[in-house]
Amino acid sequence: MEEKQEKKSPKSKVLIYGTSIFFVFLTGIFILNILAEKTEGSMRKQVGTLQEKKIYHEPLPKDNALINEQKKTAARKLQAEEKHKKVVYLTFDDGPSAASSSILAQLKKYNAKATFFYLEPNMETYSNIVIQAHKEGHSIGLHGVTHNVKKVYATTTSVVEEMDTTNEELEKIIDQKSMLIRTPYGSKPYMNEKSIKNVEKAGYLIWDWDIDSRDWYYQDKRYVKDTIKQLNSLKDRTPVILMHERQATAKQLSQLLDYLDKQGYEFKAINEYMEPVHF
Ligand SMILES: [Zn+2]
Repeated sequence: MEEKQEKKSPKSKVLIYGTSIFFVFLTGIFILNILAEKTEGSMRKQVGTLQEKKIYHEPLPKDNALINEQKKTAARKLQAEEKHKKVVYLTFDDGPSAASSSILAQLKKYNAKATFFYLEPNMETYSNIVIQAHKEGHSIGLHGVTHNVKKVYATTTSVVEEMDTTNEELEKIIDQKSMLIRTPYGSKPYMNEKSIKNVEKAGYLIWDWDIDSRDWYYQDKRYVKDTIKQLNSLKDRTPVILMHERQATAKQLSQLLDYLDKQGYEFKAINEYMEPVHF
């Protein structure tokens, strides 16, 4: 018995050590596998984002470059002529909202086309309005995600990032992207040179305004009076009027439309071939 046990003992020790080493080996392989998968996953994700961005930032289709160049020349010629004609560009920021239906109905009544700079979360809530505005021939532009100065202008690429996210939402809804943007509170004073360069590199066109209706401030018919006053003192510029998709704005909108219509103004929507208006 003793002899047998003495003989068995080293054997079982070898067995225990062997099994332990084998398990450690297996565990090692298992961990290495997980790490490899993780790295590959994140790499795949990065490549995906880069590819998406590449397609995404193509401002105009390359195979159509000549036609687009011709369109651009034609649009800019027309734009120069408009300076001496009665044309007005109404622009509405911060929507869509509960006021959008009323705004769209009033515009329709005057056969007026306008431009809407939408916020991403609002588009998600009022996607039916986005579809309606697009179908009715209005232009859709992007206004960003957060509307928070500290976030929108946090870095030199944050404007582009917010507009990209907003554009993805727009594409989900109308199957089209827009290169027209209006940054919250306008391009000045928050955008620096590098930020503007990055926006241009991404293909976006920044549109400011030359008439601020101050509708958010007045919240009554005084904004109509103020807008008309500014319009009548605007020289050699095509009026691009800033308004907001608010109930108070909607309530007085027909007064403004009525005045402009009687004065013989044509209401047009901004397009991507035009020369953007800056401060
Ligand atoms: Zn805004």
